[in-house]
Amino acid sequence: MCGIFAYTGSKGKNASEVLLEGLSSLEYRGYDSAGLFIPGHGGVRSVGAVANLRAKIESPISGSSGIAHLRWATHGEPTEKNAHPHRSCNGDVWVVHNGIIENHDVLRAELEEKGYVFESETDTETIVHQIHEFLETGVSLLEAVRKTCARLEGAYAIGVVSTGAPGKLITARQGSPLVIGLGKGENFIASDIFALVGETQRFVFLEDGDLAELTTDSVRIFDQAGALVERSVHE
Ligand code: GLU
Repeated sequence: MCGIFAYTGSKGKNASEVLLEGLSSLEYRGYDSAGLFIPGHGGVRSVGAVANLRAKIESPISGSSGIAHLRWATHGEPTEKNAHPHRSCNGDVWVVHNGIIENHDVLRAELEEKGYVFESETDTETIVHQIHEFLETGVSLLEAVRKTCARLEGAYAIGVVSTGAPGKLITARQGSPLVIGLGKGENFIASDIFALVGETQRFVFLEDGDLAELTTDSVRIFDQAGALVERSVHE
């Protein structure tokens, strides 16, 4: 099944530890590789257990946000190159994704035609290059993700960060599970609440087609058309 875990926070936590703990609590879902990205520190990816990923992180990485992923390969072998997070060509935008992008071949052909160079065999990598292309038109990260989602066919739960929007975490879901955990001075996303109960007791479940923008002290949720919407908080 695989999983996503991400957070943005102002508490000066050890980001790599928060992300590795989150991934460990999702391990029961099954996966073949793992990875994480903390802005300012690059990505770390490994095949096999979360313990292998942990072994690659020589000393704890502090940071105010990060995204992490357990992959269950659907497009491309379970290799380090295909493990998430995937990045834009300039290394500014990083994405984790659970699900399948059905129209990835059409998107990939279009993006390659425009000069985008793919590093992996995954369907996921189309998402990050498409976000980058929209960002180049001058829109916000949130709007670039919204416009990208409008082009995606299939199922997805995604987590997106950009070095150009520090402390901001964008997420969206369609057909794949995703829950937001509301903290104090920090907010989280995960594939299920089991990964979040150690961090918070307050959750928001996104509906299909929802997008959300998380900062350390705010969560704003939007529908597919980009209109601000309210979703209930569950305790
Ligand atoms: N389809 C993506 C891949 O093969 C995501 C798989 C997943 O849900 O982990 O990389």
